[in-house]
Amino acid sequence: MPRTVLLGSIKHESHTFNRFPTSFALIRRQGRREGAAVVQAHRDTGSEMAGFLDVAEAMGWHFTTPIAMNATSGGRVAADAFAGALATLEAGIRAAGRLDGILLALHGAMAAEGEDDADGAILDRVRRLVGHDVPIAATLDLHANVSDRMAANANILISYRTNPHVDQRETAHRAARLLARAMDSRVLPISVVERAPTLVGFDRGRTHTGHGPMIDALAEADRLERDEPGVLAVSVNGGYSHADMLDAGPSVIVTGEGDAAVLRRHAATLMRMGYERRAEETVRLVTIPEAIAAMREGPFPCIVADYTDAPGGGAYGDATPMLRAMIEAGLTNTAFGAIFDPKAAAIACAAGEGAKLHLSLGGWIDPEFSGAPIEAEVEVRKVSDGAYVHDGAYAPGTRASFGPSALVRVGGIDVIVATENKNILDLQQFRIFGLDPARLTAIGLKCMHGFRAAFEPIAARVLSCDAGGLTTYDYGRLGYTRVRRPVWPLDAV
Ligand SMILES: [Zn+2]
Repeated sequence: MPRTVLLGSIKHESHTFNRFPTSFALIRRQGRREGAAVVQAHRDTGSEMAGFLDVAEAMGWHFTTPIAMNATSGGRVAADAFAGALATLEAGIRAAGRLDGILLALHGAMAAEGEDDADGAILDRVRRLVGHDVPIAATLDLHANVSDRMAANANILISYRTNPHVDQRETAHRAARLLARAMDSRVLPISVVERAPTLVGFDRGRTHTGHGPMIDALAEADRLERDEPGVLAVSVNGGYSHADMLDAGPSVIVTGEGDAAVLRRHAATLMRMGYERRAEETVRLVTIPEAIAAMREGPFPCIVADYTDAPGGGAYGDATPMLRAMIEAGLTNTAFGAIFDPKAAAIACAAGEGAKLHLSLGGWIDPEFSGAPIEAEVEVRKVSDGAYVHDGAYAPGTRASFGPSALVRVGGIDVIVATENKNILDLQQFRIFGLDPARLTAIGLKCMHGFRAAFEPIAARVLSCDAGGLTTYDYGRLGYTRVRRPVWPLDAV
């Protein structure tokens, strides 16, 4: 008799210092589907759900897809949106009747209003519903903050191994294959997690530089998987430091069979390495003057990430200091993507292509992190519905949208003004406005790491700039009250 497996996805990275809850309306706009629509939306994408479907179909499983939910990082998920997602998942489990296995794609650093450990709450709920004999497997972003409750309620937990995250579908394959194994075996695997008193470690999960603590940890993870009996999977998590929750920070998960104490010892040994090398980072953030000098001097195209106002890290996306410096420097043949400013986008769209007008750009959320608005005379170069489809290495096939948006020229710089706060991950996000990133002299963009997958191949120089936004490393500015203490670098440990 074929297996019946539930495939689900509930993903959000929640920046708990972002003052806006991530609302149900926003989630529904950006990506929330139920039932057959889940399959339709994900099949030909680089997502975990596509990976789940690959294996489910290859294995001939019956499957049900009650929910897939994903939204750009931001404030805590609104209480009603979280309760709704849980209810939909629960209804899917009840409607399925007998289930042989559960496959979930989670982020691992989701917080909801009233629930710091939302991923733990999801896994706990599912476990209560299906009991202890049904294996549960979940994939995680390597920026997960992994709680004991998550590990205790999942048999299999597997994190991405790349950052930028180009292995989402492959990670799902790994999880699904381990679930298949678990459904066929009499003893279910377990997962254990180890953390350390630090908010950061493993080079924040960076792998694109090809060296550093994360690369070394993954090599050791490979060795453990290959050589150690009972070890099925080792996941190294850089953690997500912008969450004020008890277990924020890096972790190591070991999934395996046999003695939990042995698995735990492997996790602890690897975590100790991450802790000892916690200050070691392969990317240095440059200052704004350094960024401007690079954009002037090349080599070109020179791409600078506005790293500390990254929508993908939960920042507001309306910060102006870096763009303001670019305008003041008089750069030309240069683009900036994107300023999240629904009001400015609406005004520019209404004015239409070719219009020249005064516009207030960005800086409308929190001047402490976003700077003041840029007051400028602009020309509207292009108006768009903002929709794009990734065709690069990062989550190819993904459909997303800036919402109604405009390309406006300020001095010599073409600036994308967006209604939705979107990370820059793909060249198509510029191309839909008629810009060819490879032909530009310089580009400023809001993202931490993810852009590198698509943009490094066309760039002559890539830098990341600290312009003081909400995804700052200056943790003392944020005001933690809930994370365990002592914890580095808030405390000397
Ligand atoms: Zn991540």
